[in-house]
Amino acid sequence: MPEGICIFAENYNGNLDNSVPELVTAAHVIKAATGEKIEAIVSSDQCRELSDQLVKLGVEEIYAVKTDHDPAFQDDSLSRVYAEMIRRIEPSAVLIPATPAGRSIFSRTAAILGCGMTADCTELLVAKRDDGSFYIKQNKPSFGDNVFVTIEMKPGVYPQMMTIRPGVFAPYENSGSSDAKVTYFDDIVMPASGVMVIETVPAAAATGSILGADTVVVGGRGAAAEGNMELLKQFADKIGAAVGCTRPIADTGVIPFEHQIGQTGATIHPRICISLGVSGAIQHTEGIKDTKLFVAVNTDENAPIYNVADYGINADMKEVLEAYMKL
Ligand code: FAD
Repeated sequence: MPEGICIFAENYNGNLDNSVPELVTAAHVIKAATGEKIEAIVSSDQCRELSDQLVKLGVEEIYAVKTDHDPAFQDDSLSRVYAEMIRRIEPSAVLIPATPAGRSIFSRTAAILGCGMTADCTELLVAKRDDGSFYIKQNKPSFGDNVFVTIEMKPGVYPQMMTIRPGVFAPYENSGSSDAKVTYFDDIVMPASGVMVIETVPAAAATGSILGADTVVVGGRGAAAEGNMELLKQFADKIGAAVGCTRPIADTGVIPFEHQIGQTGATIHPRICISLGVSGAIQHTEGIKDTKLFVAVNTDENAPIYNVADYGINADMKEVLEAYMKL
């Protein structure tokens, strides 16, 4: 019987990707119900450094394939390495970040293994069958992000493979050191890749990204009147905040989709959120519910946004911002 919750340790230049601590949190959600071990698979020319980082995150079993060169972006070959590792480890579940690398490598891996893969999960729930076996309900937006669907594997089909949207789970913070076992598969050799990496260029710093921002100002349809979005952006600039929005605003293209918050957008964990002209639909607030301090401005005193806000200002967002900008 397959056992173990296995995470993909995405890495670059000897450092784990930010997605890895989030996957550890997701693995703990499953472990709380099934009691299975948390495992990681890693392939790199810097396996030792990466294993040390995984140990600090509290991963219990680490499986590594050392390569003789940096394998980044050689997804065709990496997918074969990971497929062979998964065949040997036989985990019940494989958690992958829904990053470009995670999607590219593991869609190939799933095809090699002949198992399914759910893309872009935003929620994982563990359920039990009549025979006592556990399975994961993999929830995700679908059909143009208009419905929320639950996907589950047929009984007996393993591993349950899924990519998880970055930002949905908070990064795991290990409280102590762990006693992890590291196993090297020396006989798994990365096959030659059809991809030759000529040059790698660091990505431009993502200015104004809502993921990881300390303070986020969110504009909804109530901030859509002419000039109000500009005012909102000036306000965000003034207080050093990133700008987020609701779906109707992203749909109009006034603010790009990457800034949309909610079930079909980003999940964020800022310290402060200031919400302007947002009604507070559950599909939106789901993406922002872990905010430490939530302030909402809305002209409707019965707006549902006040149910999640710590402070509510029943007023026109334009008047509130204009008053603040004069300070
Ligand atoms: P509205 O609901 O129209 O609210 C505007 C608010 O502004 C009102 O409360 C009004 O009182 C207030 N207002 C008006 N004028 C002013 C003013 N001058 N000053 C202050 N307040 C004012 N939505 C998302 O945001 N993210 C998602 O990821 C998402 N996913 C979805 C997935 C599915 C499957 C579905 C069906 C829907 C999804 N939605 C999502 C849409 C969601 O249900 C709501 O329709 C949407 O969040 C509403 O956006 P809003 O609050 O900007 O607009």
